[in-house]
Amino acid sequence: MSPLEWYFPESVDEAAALITREGVVPHGGGTGLLRGSLKGYRGLVALHRLPLKTFAYTPQEARLGALLTFSETVEHLAPHEPRGLLVQALYHSSTELLRNRITLGGSVAMAPPWSDLMAPLLALRARVVLRNPQGETVVPVAEYLKTPGTYRNTLITEIRYTPYPGKAFFYRAVRTRNDLPAFTLALLLRVEEGRVRDPRVVLFGTRGKGYEATGVMERLENQPVEAVDPEAVAQALDAAFHPHPRMGSPEYQQHLARTALARGLQQLLEATP
Ligand SMILES: Cc1cc2nc3c(=O)[nH]c(=O)nc-3n(C[C@H](O)[C@H](O)[C@H](O)COP(=O)(O)OP(=O)(O)OC[C@H]3O[C@@H](n4cnc5c(N)ncnc54)[C@H](O)[C@@H]3O)c2cc1C
Repeated sequence: MSPLEWYFPESVDEAAALITREGVVPHGGGTGLLRGSLKGYRGLVALHRLPLKTFAYTPQEARLGALLTFSETVEHLAPHEPRGLLVQALYHSSTELLRNRITLGGSVAMAPPWSDLMAPLLALRARVVLRNPQGETVVPVAEYLKTPGTYRNTLITEIRYTPYPGKAFFYRAVRTRNDLPAFTLALLLRVEEGRVRDPRVVLFGTRGKGYEATGVMERLENQPVEAVDPEAVAQALDAAFHPHPRMGSPEYQQHLARTALARGLQQLLEATP
């Protein structure tokens, strides 16, 4: 077995070139890589010297560097959107030790079903900035997930999204705080002139790479707030789940998801004047 080589590039260009080599991959927080066997890898590219802990925020666009950890992301975002979707989701993710290591870039690249990051990014219709030796491209997170092979050997350098001018609710399907979620649910909505506008409901950890509950969203769009029956709307959620060792059958998880959605709708609509 050949020894694993570590690389310590000083620039994004250098890192982007290194990861085009066979078996050489980026190392963000290392929590995903080091959980596995590393069999088949020839080299790890440490990203910590790269200028990718950047943060910029305007009402038009948030830009989050790929090397920000979950904890750093919450610290940066909380002053701008204290009850925002990413703040709610990442503040409660895993444990403090892990939140101090897990990076945004590594989480998008790995996108494990228990991710606390992916449902919020999909609901926010976020984009990833990718670098390879040919240059930079920006693609929707949803597209990155659908065709992972296309983006192999590219470095995620940034995540961008348009801040959502409404309310957010996030649910993790766990039995105890430190469990890996069986699935997560992200809900965004706003109310204008007494009507629901631009509702977004996304689940992650279901079958497929993310599930947008379009049936639910259609039932909510443009409805007068007082006409929305959260319990009835939530019944339109029809995601497909995997059986889960702790959270039970697909039917039970569907029930959990509908209950969480009804509670989220209730909470956000009550909080709206
Ligand atoms: C015990 C445990 C519990 C966890 N619980 C949770 C949880 O509850 N919720 C949650 O959301 N996460 C949780 N995680 C984290 C999750 O499982 C992944 O380990 C994490 O998202 C990976 O991020 P990382 O920065 O550590 O990536 P790394 O381990 O560094 O890399 C993961 C993959 O991404 C690639 N990669 C890394 N950075 C980049 C980049 N910038 N561009 C392109 N590719 C890149 C790597 O080559 C590798 O293939 C947990 C992890 C552990 C070990």
